[in-house]
Amino acid sequence: FVSLSAAEAFAIEYWPLELYKLSLKPAPRSLAGKVAFVTGGASGIGKSIVHRLAAEGAHVVVADINAEGSAKTVEEVEQKHGKGKALAVHCDVTSEQAIQNAFQQTLETYGVVDVVVSNAGIASSAPIEETSLAMWELNQKILSTGYFLVSREAFKVWRKQNVGGSLVYVASKNSVAAGKNAAAYSAAKAAELHLARCLAEEGGAAGIRVNTVLPDAVLSGSSIWDGKWRAERAATYGIAPDQLEEHYRKRTTLRVNVFPEDIAEAVKFFATSDSAKTTGGVLTVDGGVPIAYVR
Ligand code: NAD
Repeated sequence: FVSLSAAEAFAIEYWPLELYKLSLKPAPRSLAGKVAFVTGGASGIGKSIVHRLAAEGAHVVVADINAEGSAKTVEEVEQKHGKGKALAVHCDVTSEQAIQNAFQQTLETYGVVDVVVSNAGIASSAPIEETSLAMWELNQKILSTGYFLVSREAFKVWRKQNVGGSLVYVASKNSVAAGKNAAAYSAAKAAELHLARCLAEEGGAAGIRVNTVLPDAVLSGSSIWDGKWRAERAATYGIAPDQLEEHYRKRTTLRVNVFPEDIAEAVKFFATSDSAKTTGGVLTVDGGVPIAYVR
């Protein structure tokens, strides 16, 4: 028998473990060196997406009409990940010219675009008799048409680059479930989902993937949770405005509220090669709301 000192025994027991740990390298960040363009990245869900993709190594472009919010998001990303990692571009998704300019600026700065996230949106809520034509048209213009215009530009760029790309839509549970007192919004969101499926079919041969995330009620702390919209939704459910979060938590199977970070995680999945064999896909992130009507 050989007798070991306590130190030797410790070394023999733990050395292999230490060696093993040394051999472990941090997982490579899947978007290192890639460029992601995110509409509506100045606040709420879009802002979370920008942060998540930047954490995954991407250079991120914040494309929004909110210049102040965009600048702040860029500042936050650069503080965390370094100068030059983010860019704010003015982009009104209802304007063909503005979208073209935003992509142009992105290409001038970074040379390529690998990921495009179409997320910019608004929320509205009203019974059909009180839905003005202007409100209907605004929903169509920012949501369905806005997603079309951004996608068209992304396709043009990707066809030229000839290396494929990943287009991710942030649509809504209302794309597949009937939203009570939200017909204008829901119809526009349904159009987005169908557009994504058509484009998945169209882009597949060129390596362009198109996938959709369906959030339900997300506590984004953003414009759509404040003021008029909150009051309108609460009235739909017959509850006080400050009970909205609890209402949304209780109606989910998991009894949870959903946050922007949860949506950003799903977008990250579609943005990266983790989902390399998926296109035309739909991922619902809603805590489980097992009903055909989003009440
Ligand atoms: P938000 O209001 O915080 O963010 C929307 C962003 O879009 C803002 O930064 C705004 O400036 C920008 N925007 C609005 N109009 C624009 C335009 N014409 N051009 C460019 N940018 C514009 O809202 P959010 O909750 O983060 O919503 C993001 C997306 O998620 C929307 O498409 C929304 O429909 C969808 N969604 C949200 C929820 C939710 O509960 N928050 C649920 C389902 C789906």
